[in-house]
Amino acid sequence: MKELKVELASRSYKIKIGQDVLQDLGQELQSVGFKGKLLIVTDENVSPLYADSCLESLEKSGFQTRVFSIPPGEESKSWMWAEQIFSAALDFNLDRDSGIVALGGGVVGDLAGFIAATYLRGVAYVQVPTTLLAQVDSSVGGKVAINHSRGKNMIGAFYQPRLVLIDLNTLDTLPFRELRSGMAEVIKYGVIRDDIFFKELYRNLVTTLEQEKEFLEYIVFKSCLIKADVVSVDEQEGGVRAILNFGHTLGHALEAATDYKYFNHGEALHYGMLLASRLACREGLLDLKSLNLIEDLLCRIGFKGLPPVLDADKIKKGLTYDKKRKEGKMIFILPERIGRVGIYDSISQEKVDKLLLDFFKEFY
Ligand code: ADP
Ligand code: ZN
Repeated sequence: MKELKVELASRSYKIKIGQDVLQDLGQELQSVGFKGKLLIVTDENVSPLYADSCLESLEKSGFQTRVFSIPPGEESKSWMWAEQIFSAALDFNLDRDSGIVALGGGVVGDLAGFIAATYLRGVAYVQVPTTLLAQVDSSVGGKVAINHSRGKNMIGAFYQPRLVLIDLNTLDTLPFRELRSGMAEVIKYGVIRDDIFFKELYRNLVTTLEQEKEFLEYIVFKSCLIKADVVSVDEQEGGVRAILNFGHTLGHALEAATDYKYFNHGEALHYGMLLASRLACREGLLDLKSLNLIEDLLCRIGFKGLPPVLDADKIKKGLTYDKKRKEGKMIFILPERIGRVGIYDSISQEKVDKLLLDFFKEFY
C-alpha cells in the first residue's frame, strides 16, 4: 500500500492506495477516529459490486452501518437526493460522532461530501473512490457540491474528508469509457506540473489502459501527489489551484453545448486540453514540438468522436457562463512548456473565435 498526506494543518489527511484495501476499511476508519454509526452512500451500480466487502469489514470492526444507494448519474447530484439522504441519516439517528462513507465515483463523492458538510453542521466523512476520475481528482481536495438547475456544482462547500482510501481493484469492473475519462485528468497532471511524469505516461500509457496494476498504482499515486501538493498551497482556489483547471474552460463549454449527454467529463476535457494547448502555441507560449507531444499522448488514449452536430454559438455561450470567469474575463490555463502552465485572462474573444473556427473546419 502506498500513502501520502494532504497537508492542511488541522484538516490534514492521508490518501492510501492499494489493492484489496476495501477489506481493511473498518480498521482504517478506526485508525482515523471513526466510531459508532456509519452511513454508506453509494450508487446502484457500485453497491452490488463493493458494498458487501465494505459492510463485512465495518461490521467486523464493530460499526453499526446502513447503506443508501442513489441511481447512477449526474442527475442524482440534486436537492431531491440530498433530502432523501438527510432523511435516511435522521431515521438512522446518525449523530455528530458518526460518519459518512462515500463509496463510488465523483457523483457519489460530491453528493455524500455535501451531505457530510451540512448534516448537523458537519460530520466526518471518508472518500472511497471507485472510478479512476474520482481516485485521481474529485475525491482529493474537499470540493463537495450538488447541482442547481442553472448550473453544475453551484451549491457546495470546501469540506475535507478524514481519509481517502483507494482500492485499485475496483477499477477491474470500470467500463472502458470511464477509465479513459480518468486518464484525461492523469495526463493533465503531467502537462501542468511534471514533465517527467508526462514522459512516463507517453512511454507506457497503452499498457495502462490494459490495466497493468503496478503502473496504475504509480499513476494514481503521482496524480494524487500533484493534486495534494496544489491543494495544500491553495485550499479554496484563491490562486494556484486554478492550474488544475487546465483544459476545463473549453471542456466544460463542450459538455454544456452537448447538454452533458454526449461526452463524459474526461472526454470533453480531452478536447479542452487539445484546444488550450493549440491556443498556447498560437500565442507563442508553447513550442510546436511540445504541442505535438501533447496531441500525440491524447490521441494515444483515444478521443471520443465529435457529435454529428455541434453548435459553435453554444460553445461560446458555455465559455461565457464558465464559473471561473472573473469580472467578465475568460480565464485560460495555458501550457508554457510540458510541466508548467500559466493563468491567462487577456486572450481576446477574436482569438478564441478563430481557434474554434479552425477546430470546426478540421472536424466538420
Ligand atoms: P465520475 O467518477 O466519472 O465523476 P460517476 O460517479 O458518474 O462519474 O461514475 C461513472 C459511472 O461508473 C457510474 O455509472 C457509476 O455507477 C459507475 N461506476 C463507478 N465505479 C464503478 C466501478 N468500480 N465499476 C463499475 N462501474 C462503476
Ligand atoms: Zn476535471
